[in-house]
Amino acid sequence: MISGNTALVALLGQPVSHSLSPAMQNAALKAMGLDWSFLALPCSADDLATVLQGLEAVGCRGLNVTIPHKQAVSQLCKELSPLAQRLGAVNTMTPLPSGGWHGHNTDVEGFVAPLLHNNANWSGTRTVVLGCGGSARAVVAGLQDLNPSEITIVGRRDQTLQPFCSDLQQGRPAHSVQLQPLLDNDPQLQTRIQQADLVVNTTPIGMSSHQPDQGPVLPLGEDIWNNLTAHTVLYDLIYTPRPTPWLQRGEALGCRTYDGLEMLVQQGAAALRSWSGVDEVPVNAMREAALKNLSHP
Ligand code: NAP
Repeated sequence: MISGNTALVALLGQPVSHSLSPAMQNAALKAMGLDWSFLALPCSADDLATVLQGLEAVGCRGLNVTIPHKQAVSQLCKELSPLAQRLGAVNTMTPLPSGGWHGHNTDVEGFVAPLLHNNANWSGTRTVVLGCGGSARAVVAGLQDLNPSEITIVGRRDQTLQPFCSDLQQGRPAHSVQLQPLLDNDPQLQTRIQQADLVVNTTPIGMSSHQPDQGPVLPLGEDIWNNLTAHTVLYDLIYTPRPTPWLQRGEALGCRTYDGLEMLVQQGAAALRSWSGVDEVPVNAMREAALKNLSHP
């Protein structure tokens, strides 16, 4: 029940109408008995600074930030966590007692959470990341912390692939794993995929709303996956449809698979922890609400 005392938490992005965050966060707030309400607010890039000032002025308790503002808001925060600073991307903001916003990134925690289930150990594994856009930054940062022996980043354009790798390598200890850029037409690609313990898809290929007329349904096309064996784990950041055609292919070959829903739930749970200061947030209620509100095309 919204009253005169209800406080606001919100998502800023554009578009936001299909976001699962309001369902997920409001289910959690209800279970926690917090008199807060979570709204998805569409916001243009031009209005971002004004909207942040306004939300601070009305006592907003916290924000999630999504496409296309994750980079831009990092410039508007008074303070950044070391991780947000390193990634140059913010998805979670909390108001500072002294005024202004603190920016953090919970996408990394969200990404690694399913991989760390049952105390799994990824140390020494060979990993491959498909794509080098916004979400790949959080994925690579997460993998770097898992201490694999290889992280190969596959991109389709050298102009984005090279700066992506040097950016994410910067500031890492000298002994840490070197990122290996690989173009998607490189002859080594087939072997890298075949030898990989974990392949993560961060491209939108296979997503319901991403339907290029004659585009591929599987990342990197059909053939490269023919020699996949059951030892390779596939992780797709996409969660509509569930499972994606790529994960279906992996399941048919006996591979363990993860889709992006748990990452979404866990990044939201981590955000809620930082807004509320409560460690034990109702993750199950969040997951159930997200599942219930997923559209199945
Ligand atoms: P993005 O910044 O646009 O990056 C997409 C990457 O995929 C870029 O490297 C892009 O290459 C590449 N790409 C796009 N179309 C391609 C194609 N046809 N062939 C080869 N490469 C292609 O997008 P994003 O924000 O990272 O999001 C990527 C996906 O992750 C989306 O499906 C999104 O829904 C999902 N996601 C899920 C979560 C979650 O919580 N589960 C969180 C964030 C994102 P170019 O740079 O050359 O265009």
